[in-house]
Amino acid sequence: MKHAESQKPESSKPEVTRRGFFAQGMAAVAGASAVAAAMSPLRHLTSGDIPTLEEFFQKHYKEMTAEDKEQVFNRIRTAVGKRYRTEVNLADPPPMDGVEFVYGLNLSRCIGCRKCVHACVAENNQSRAPEIQYIRVLEMEKGSIDVETSDHHYDPPLVPNPDKYYMPVQCHQCADPPCVKVCPVEATWQEPDGITVIDYDWCIGCRYCEAACPYWARRFNFTEPEIPADQLNPNMSYLSNRPRQKGVMEKCTYCLHRTRVGRMPACLEVCPTGSRKFGNVLDPDSEVAYILKHKRVYVLKEEVGTIPRFFYYFDERGSRYAEPIAPADVGGDA
Ligand code: SF4
Ligand code: SF4
Repeated sequence: MKHAESQKPESSKPEVTRRGFFAQGMAAVAGASAVAAAMSPLRHLTSGDIPTLEEFFQKHYKEMTAEDKEQVFNRIRTAVGKRYRTEVNLADPPPMDGVEFVYGLNLSRCIGCRKCVHACVAENNQSRAPEIQYIRVLEMEKGSIDVETSDHHYDPPLVPNPDKYYMPVQCHQCADPPCVKVCPVEATWQEPDGITVIDYDWCIGCRYCEAACPYWARRFNFTEPEIPADQLNPNMSYLSNRPRQKGVMEKCTYCLHRTRVGRMPACLEVCPTGSRKFGNVLDPDSEVAYILKHKRVYVLKEEVGTIPRFFYYFDERGSRYAEPIAPADVGGDA
């Protein structure tokens, strides 16, 4: 299958780059004769927090030539390999022509076991201390869809609770993503296959995108992420699960390093109840296209107009088939 080109930065937006943002900011504080005070937070930076010159002058991902990319990727392979004492397979799979990914979740089947939460952490090299999780499973009273009163810290000995139902929430890969619009440096954007990505080397950590997301889908690295070397997933890509640094944002990418090469997301593969369905909505023979055509589907917070590529649905018969099991730990900041 052919691959689609990444979208270029929107030409209508004033050109703001990470280096330009810093340069303009610094000029402004210099004019106010407040450089020393403004720089005082830098006293707390460790040498590991300060980018190397090579990193600082790195171009935006969408402006890099193939040669630039190879240089950057080699630097990352070496740095990650040295840090975790392993061989790193860093790829950069592009979006495929004629593919737009969507995710469907069957609320009649989900038992709230949180296996998807933890498979995602392992697959995507999220920090373990503090643990960062992209998926949050909400527990709600049967017969209501009220996310505001839901509980995602539920911890009974067994799930499912027959009086409750469970709604996993992660990035909805919106067709009109508010997080992208507010980023002042275009460090986050939507790819042609519908996946919103972040260039971690371009993010300045302002957290505007986190505030703009109506689905609580973005996670910020307040501290240096910690992943035990023996738990690192060495199969990674630049725009998804390569290790992140302190001070940058991250989020679910529908496991693009897997899904762009024909595999399923890790959360889907581990789900014991078949609650999760993923695929190309532009393929009329796909399971997701069938569900969208034949089932009654629901999108979360439809009123905010983000047009999610993540939808929920119920089975007509509505019964769960799984036996009760012990849920995985809540863990993390969930
Ligand atoms: S693994 Fe499947 S059944 Fe368990 S919480 Fe996630 S979606 Fe629900
Ligand atoms: S925190 Fe979000 S809005 Fe701010 S630079 Fe990073 S991606 Fe952009």
